[in-house]
Amino acid sequence: MFMSTEVAPKQKLFSYLLYISMSCFIMSVLNIIHTVAILRIDFTAISFIIPIIAGLIFGFMLAHIKILSEKLSTMAYTDSLTHIYNRLHFSHFLDAEIDKVKRYGGTFSVIFFDLDHFKDVNDNFGHLAGDEVLEKITEIVSSANRSADIFARYGGEEFIILTPETDLSGALIHAERLRNDIEKYEFQNVGRLTSSFGVTEFNAEKDDEESLFERVDIALYMAKENGRNRVEKA
Ligand code: GH3
Ligand code: MG
Ligand code: MG
Repeated sequence: MFMSTEVAPKQKLFSYLLYISMSCFIMSVLNIIHTVAILRIDFTAISFIIPIIAGLIFGFMLAHIKILSEKLSTMAYTDSLTHIYNRLHFSHFLDAEIDKVKRYGGTFSVIFFDLDHFKDVNDNFGHLAGDEVLEKITEIVSSANRSADIFARYGGEEFIILTPETDLSGALIHAERLRNDIEKYEFQNVGRLTSSFGVTEFNAEKDDEESLFERVDIALYMAKENGRNRVEKA
């Protein structure tokens, strides 16, 4: 679930070609109708020059606007360092999942985790090394997640995962695996790091977004209080 704010060059070229050829075509057709049906004069090859130039300019502008708006919406919904979803977009997915489970049944869980003593990484190795750790953590977790999981950077070094169709026991297994994957990774220059996890399952009868988050936050707090590098449920 990595996202770049840059639109791929091939996709960019395709958009420009598509919009330019579409607008050249529309301008030419309008010009033929105007010349033949309204002005009732013969058109020559030269009559195509102006609509083609207008089509080129108009199509280029349309493609440019489309690419810019795609870039802006990606920027609004993703974290610029790790390229995963940000907190705002996570809450959109969470709202949709809550609606789905309340309406059609089923369940889902949320995993909230925070790196242990991350301030020490910045203090000892510098902020850039800290940033590299955050990027690597994103890779480790993304490759262990299922494709349906929604993974977001919640804040500085706090991450959250929505695991659809997963009950508490399944989410606990997944969190434990992530904890273990992070613990055994040797970060360049920095070495080994640990992380603490809170896990909770959505309760369709009692929960809303706020109560669910409060509970998973308490679980994470318990993991920190109980010594860090562990998974707690609530
Ligand atoms: P704990 O085990 O209790 O979680 O301790 P901690 O030091 O990890 O926790 P704390 O919340 O006190 O510190 C989090 C640190 O994360 C402080 C801040 O400098 C750092 N941080 C937040 N965002 C970023 C970022 O984008 N890049 C880097 N390099 N550091 C960040
Ligand atoms: Mg921390
Ligand atoms: Mg923190």
